[in-house]
Order: sequence, then C-alpha cells, then structure tokens
Amino acid sequence: MAETNTGSTLSFEVFPPNSKVGIENLTKTLDQLKELKPSFISVTCSNHNVDYEKNTIDLAKHVHNDLQVPAMVHMPAAYVNKKQVSRILNELEELNINQVLALRGDIIDGHAPENDFKYASDLTKFIKQEKPDFEVSGACYPEVHPESTNRIDDIKHLKEKVDAGCDQLITQLFYDNEQFFRFQEECAIADINVPILAGIMPIINRKQALHILENCSAHLPKKFLAILDKYKDDPIALRDAGLAYAIDQIVDLVTNDVAGIHIYTMNSAQTAKHIYDNTAAFFK
Ligand code: FAD
Repeated sequence: MAETNTGSTLSFEVFPPNSKVGIENLTKTLDQLKELKPSFISVTCSNHNVDYEKNTIDLAKHVHNDLQVPAMVHMPAAYVNKKQVSRILNELEELNINQVLALRGDIIDGHAPENDFKYASDLTKFIKQEKPDFEVSGACYPEVHPESTNRIDDIKHLKEKVDAGCDQLITQLFYDNEQFFRFQEECAIADINVPILAGIMPIINRKQALHILENCSAHLPKKFLAILDKYKDDPIALRDAGLAYAIDQIVDLVTNDVAGIHIYTMNSAQTAKHIYDNTAAFFK
C-alpha cells in the first residue's frame, strides 16, 4: 500500500472586516479556527493604503498575541514606502510576529502607488535586509499572473522573487490540481525549491463561483461547471457539492506530497471546520 503523506501543513487566511458586525463575526470565527490548530493564520491587506496598519496589523496582533496562533501579515509593496515598512517591521518584531507575505498588491484606479517598491521582489529584498530573521512568503500563480505575457516570463520573475529572499510561496486559488502539479514541475525545472502552499477557496454559492469565473485567472473545470449547472436552483446542494469538491482536491494534493494547504476562509469558520473534519487525518 502507498504511504500516506503526513507532512503537509494546514493554514488559513482571514481579512479585516469593515463593519462592527463583521468584526464580531470574525472574533467568533477566529476562536473556532484556533481550535483547528493551524500552522499560521494570514491576514490580508487592502490593496491601497487606507488604514493598512490599523486593520491588518491590529488583527494580526490579536491572532498572534491573544489567540497564540502564529500570524502572517500581508504587505502591499505598491502602497507602502521604505520608511513605513521599516517602522512596521520594528513594530512586528516587538509583537513577536516574524512572518510577512510580501505582495505587490493590485494597482487600482484613483490610488497612485508609492514609488519605493515596484514589484513584490523589491519589498522582499528590503524586508530581508532590514530583518534577516523574518520569514517572507510570496504569491504565485499556477495559471499564470493575469498581467504576465507568458508562462516563461512569469516563472522567470518568480525565480527572481525567490532569489530576493522568499522562503515560501502561496498559490492563487485554483480548482484543477493538474494545473498545480504542472506548475510545481515548472518551478522545479527553474530551480525554485522553496515550499509551495496550495491556496484553496471552497466554492459554497453560485455568486462566488460567478465572481471567480469573471475575475480570476483560475479556470473552473468541466466537472465543477456541471455541478454549478445541476444545482443552479438548489443552494444547499451546491454548497455541499462545493465542499465535497474542495475536500477531494485537498486529499489529492496532500497524498501527492503538497507542502501545505492554505484555505481562503472568507472569514467563515463553518467552511474551514467542515473541511478540517473531513481531512484532518491527512495533516501533520
Ligand atoms: P509580483 O510578484 O510583483 O508580480 C506582479 C506581476 O509583475 C507578475 O505578472 C510578474 O510576472 C510581473 N513581474 C514581477 N517582477 C517583474 C520584473 N522584474 N519585470 C517585469 N515584470 C515583473 N492583494 C492584495 O491587495 N491584498 C492581499 O492581501 C492579497 N493577498 C494575496 C494572497 C495570495 C496568496 C495571492 C496569490 C495574491 C494575493 N493578493 C493580494 C493579490 C496580489 O496582490 C495581486 O495578484 C497582484 O496583482 C500581484 O501581486 P504579486 O505579489 O504576485 O506581484
């Protein structure tokens, strides 16, 4: 019988809510996520500088110091400057937080970027210079970053990001494991040897599926499109099928030795818990 891999980690992503109700819900969600003993919880940042420090850092502080779960702070290179990053890194160090996801961030209309960092690799290099002991993660795209002209350039730039000091990569969401396995191979060929965590976002309603189809580079396989069609008038069946699909995807990844699964929780503990309950035996 083939050996079961027990080396994969499990981690979660949450985002800072922008309403009082959202904050109350997230507090309950985090209490439940803590019980699932994740290896870390990452906290997203807004893609422009509005309240970045207050929202993201404050939430990470709660995760790390109140809940005692290692926190990873997302940082948007395009919307921070060197002076600000230095100050934030010192603050994180005082809070004993040493994990940062260095991103470029999406450039949005009407919000001029800062000029100190053009790409995530520039921010990565700066963080490593300032705090060599910090663990820096980077984003990667099994189905190619939407702005990239081709796969080869995308991998070439990813290699530059890893060489700049990225210790680990976390993928954009994807629904076709074959795309991920192919990407892993391409990374190995390009001598990108850091752990690659698979980003999984369970689809639990039709609106979310349509949003992904319209806005993400991730394609939905035929099997998933059939589920969407079959259950278009049955939201409960669609949710259950979406959860079952995510569980199947995770079991396949873990049994194929993925370094880790990073679940985009959308601040729902229920979804994360359901997946955990059905896959826990596969994690370390
Ligand atoms: P980069 O690595 O800088 O790459 C951006 C583009 O530039 C790519 O096409 C790359 O190929 C190209 N490139 C890189 N270097 C060079 C170079 N030297 N010359 C020419 N081209 C180059 N966004 C948020 O705003 N907040 C979040 O919290 C957030 N969390 C995320 C978490 C994960 C796991 C992922 C996968 C994405 C997340 N994003 C988030 C989205 C991300 O900010 C966007 O996808 C953004 O467009 C690119 O960010 P990056 O860090 O991948 O950029």
